[in-house]
Amino acid sequence: MDKEVKNGFEFCDRSLSQNILAGWQKIIDLTTKISGAYVGLLMGVCHNNIEVLVASKTEGNPYHAGDREHLYGSGLYCEQVIKTMKNLVVPNALKSDEWNQNPDLKNFNLLVYMGFPIRKPDGHPFGTICVLDNKENQFSDEIPILLESMRDLIESQLKIESLHVQNQAQAELLQEKVLQLNHVNQTLKESEEKYKLILENTTDYIWVYNLTQQRFTFVSPSVVNLYGLTVEEALAQKLEDSMDKESFAIVCNKIINGNEHTSCVIEIQQPKKDGELIWVEMTIRYVINPQGEEEIIGVSRNIDQRKKKEQEIYYISTHDYLTDIYNRSYFEQQLQNAVSLKEYSQEPLSLLIIDIDYFKKINDTLGHLAGDEILKFVSQTIATAIRSSDILARYGGEEFSILMPGIDLTNAMSAAERIRTTIENTHFPYDLKITVSIGVTEHDAGQTLDDMYRHADTALYNGKENGRNQVVVYRGLDA
Ligand code: GH3
Ligand code: MG
Ligand code: MG
Repeated sequence: MDKEVKNGFEFCDRSLSQNILAGWQKIIDLTTKISGAYVGLLMGVCHNNIEVLVASKTEGNPYHAGDREHLYGSGLYCEQVIKTMKNLVVPNALKSDEWNQNPDLKNFNLLVYMGFPIRKPDGHPFGTICVLDNKENQFSDEIPILLESMRDLIESQLKIESLHVQNQAQAELLQEKVLQLNHVNQTLKESEEKYKLILENTTDYIWVYNLTQQRFTFVSPSVVNLYGLTVEEALAQKLEDSMDKESFAIVCNKIINGNEHTSCVIEIQQPKKDGELIWVEMTIRYVINPQGEEEIIGVSRNIDQRKKKEQEIYYISTHDYLTDIYNRSYFEQQLQNAVSLKEYSQEPLSLLIIDIDYFKKINDTLGHLAGDEILKFVSQTIATAIRSSDILARYGGEEFSILMPGIDLTNAMSAAERIRTTIENTHFPYDLKITVSIGVTEHDAGQTLDDMYRHADTALYNGKENGRNQVVVYRGLDA
């Protein structure tokens, strides 16, 4: 017998229960007894071998459970039953040319054989049920019927057993699936908790806006820190309500131009619940959700402080600390840009340089601080006399420059004259009478920035030479 297992035994990769085996023993014993035969066997086929599964407990039976023979070419009666899958009856082998040399006869004098094939539920050979005798035995007509009934019984049991095995395999599979599912559930629960922890503790505000449904479908709790809104209030908003028209257009543009899963970062101003505008950096990602709907996944971060710092730094780097008008470096950059643009445009461009007359005297008589005060006053006075498109800067100590885009020499001259008279007629602190001299030039094709400065300076110098408090236009004269 092959290896015994706890609740049955294994035969040729299949497990048969002890109950079945005990039942088969009864079947073989009963069949042998009724038929009056010497030997009854239940044989099983495994690959190329045939094995005794059950042997009748008849006196002197030479076969025992577990005896095994090579099947093919063995010459055994059972070999033919398996090969043909047909019943075989040999009444007396000694009288048969075909069977008078077979090993059962030669070894054990088993000259009578009656055997029936047994099939597995799938139709393949399982083995045989057979009775053998060592003396001529005239089996009665009922014996083949008995043998056939016993064979049918065994085949039915094999069917039940195989269904049982299938059920068991399915139950095991189901159990394994349940275990896997439990594991997946556990992993999901853990990662959900992890995400929840991140969402609840990050200062970034994470949200999902469903474009198809036109509504927010998720907002993280940090929305309260960013906008002062509750989760419910944020969910009730429309995307366009959460930003001004211009910002909304920027976002839409990014989405329209974006392919799925591409993301972009934008900096926009958004209103808080109390109306205060704050700068927000928004990282948005355009996706199609599992339902086929368009969505934006966004991460918003408050960058108001950084943005204001940047603006402050930019202001400081472009403005004069004393007068609060533009400084020289910003002015030169703007002039350079304007001169470069002139190559492509027919628009005129004029430059004014303004110098306060006898300013040294103010410092000398009233002191440096009073001088500073006057400088601020003069710059504000000039600022009120020019257009918003003109760029006014403090060019040097008590010198100012004005860039006038779109203004030709004639108009620049009258603007300069307006500035001069405004200063002359302004009532200054300390009852001072202040005048300025102004050099004016218009950009000519091919001129560099230095050419313009030199020309305006030359005109200014001429004004100073000719008695101050006047506007002088550069007309190509270098003297
Ligand atoms: P002119 O009519 O020829 O221009 O005579 P001016 O006295 O104005 O000319 P000058 O260049 O000799 O003097 C300019 C003075 O401006 C010299 C300097 O003390 C003063 N100054 C330059 N920058 C500042 C400043 O930031 N604050 C004050 N208070 N004075 C300044
Ligand atoms: Mg000067
Ligand atoms: Mg001066």
